[in-house]
Order: sequence, then structure tokens, then C-alpha cells
Amino acid sequence: MDWIIILALCALTFFSVGEMMRLKKEVASFANRIERNLDHVIAGEEIEEVDETADTLWGKVGERFQRVDHIWKRKEKESSMEKERIKELISDLSHQTRTPIANIKIYAEFLHGESLSEEGCEFLSNLEEQTEKLDFFLQSMIKISRLETGIIQIQMQEANFYETLRGAVAAVVPKVADKRLKLSVECEEALLLVHDMKWTQEAIFNVLDNAAKYTNSGGNIWIVVKRQEMFTRVSIKDSGKGIARERQAEIFTRFYREPEVREQPGVGIGLYLTRKILELQGGYIEVHSEVDEGTEFRLYLREQSS
Ligand code: ADP
Repeated sequence: MDWIIILALCALTFFSVGEMMRLKKEVASFANRIERNLDHVIAGEEIEEVDETADTLWGKVGERFQRVDHIWKRKEKESSMEKERIKELISDLSHQTRTPIANIKIYAEFLHGESLSEEGCEFLSNLEEQTEKLDFFLQSMIKISRLETGIIQIQMQEANFYETLRGAVAAVVPKVADKRLKLSVECEEALLLVHDMKWTQEAIFNVLDNAAKYTNSGGNIWIVVKRQEMFTRVSIKDSGKGIARERQAEIFTRFYREPEVREQPGVGIGLYLTRKILELQGGYIEVHSEVDEGTEFRLYLREQSS
């Protein structure tokens, strides 16, 4: 009798081991199939055939995998069509506004040749100022939309960072001279950094231009560039009006301007754009400021291999 039980137990064990090995093989093949098909989805290729009637793990899951793949492809197509529409819209906006703005500037120029009353001269000067503002605003909006929709691509390449900085400083020199500001720069001349020269220059210029704009005549601006382990830090510090703590987050949002700077030129886009440019390069920006003491912006550019 005992040997019948032993025989039954042996058969059961043999069957269980066989079943376990079969299951293990099926799970391994399923995992490989999932991995292969995920690679197909990522590469935008067709996924493998699914036999829904097959009593396998892939037969059970594959059909849903196909559905997810279809949804993914449809969404991708919709998003690229949307991007195309925005691209056309921006291009139209850019073309259609360029000529009227240029014409307004020309007509205003003509008016300078006319003998105008004192009031007329004042109106003309206001007209020119507002036209410049509108032009700047439109160009900035077009720039932001192009960056956000990926129409403009950031071009990362190893380049001399001192040259990038020099370009930004040169652009702000007239304003610095006008206000008799003292500007000091500390940056290693041979500093090589993987970055987009043109856009980084624009980001630095925006912060420098603000430092010059919001600092009283005779004040100071200090620029210090320091290489750190993961980032290169560009510190731009001024002895200007400072920014209250509760406003320090808001200054990076689109169109935000503090109430007391309304008389100064600007549309509240500079810092928003600067942050965007840095983020697109894997970096970020910080502000440290005390009212009536000054402001320091720290721009962090990520260290990366070329
Ligand atoms: P804009 O200078 O055209 O107003 P920004 O986006 O460059 O726009 O700056 C947003 C706001 O942040 C400014 O209007 C100003 O109130 C404040 N701000 C920026 N930089 C400084 C600075 N260096 N010192 C004091 N306030 C500043």
C-alpha cells in the first residue's frame, strides 16, 4: 500500500516541477516579448502580432498593448498637428504685424519733419514709445512661443563661456555708462562650457539689463562666474532697489511687474524667458534680495559632456 502512496507523491512532485518549469519559461518569454515590444513602441515601429485565442500571457495582454500603442500614436499625431498649427499661427502673427509696426515708425519719423505744437511733440514721443513697447512685446511673445513649441531648438555645444558673457556685458554697457554704474566682472577667460551661446547670452543680458535698470545712478553691479561640481554658477548682483520676499516667486511669471516700476521701460517677460532658457539647458535660476539693499540672481548652467 505504502509504495502506491510513494509512487503517487513522486508523480505529483514530477508533475509540479514540470509545471513550474513550463510557467517559468512562459514568464521569461513574456517578459522578453514585453521588452521587445516596448522597444518597438519607443522606436515608433509596429508591435508583434497578437493571437488573442492563444492561451498564453502575451495572448491575454497583447491586445491591450496594441490598444495602448494605437492611443499613443493617435495622440502623437494630434500633438504634432497642433504644433504645426501653432507654428503657422506664430508665423502669420510675425509676418502680419511686422509691416504695420514698421509703417507706424516711418509715419512717426515723417512727423518729426513737421512743425508741431508742444503738445503735438509730446503725443508723438508717446506714440513712438508705445510703438517700441508693442514691437518689443510682440517679438518677445513670438520668441517665447517658438521656444515653448520647440520651433527654436537649443543648440548645445562646447564653447568659451567668457565670450558668451562678454557679448551680454557689451550689450548693457551703454546703459551702465549712462547711469555711471560701476561694473565688475570675475570670470576665467579660458572657461569652456557646453551651452547654447546665443540663448545663454540673451538670458544673461536680461538679468544684467534689469540690474542696470533697477539700480540708481552711481550704484554697483558685480558679476562672478564660478565652476562648481554639477553646475557653473553665474552670479549677477546689484546694489539696487531690491525685491520684497513675498514678490520673489512672482517676478518669474509672465507679465509680472512690481507696481513701483511702471514708469520704467519693460513688459515683464525678461525673467520668464531667462528661466525658460536655463531650464531648456538643464539649469535653473535663483533670486536672493533685500529691499533697499540689492538683488543677486544666480544662474546655474549644468555641467555636461559635449
Ligand atoms: P521687466 O524688467 O520688463 O519689468 P522682468 O521679467 O525682467 O520684466 O522682471 C520682472 C520684475 O522683477 C521687474 O518688473 C521688477 O519689478 C523686478 N526685478 C527684476 N530684476 C530686478 C532687479 N535686479 N532689482 C529689482 N527688481 C527687479
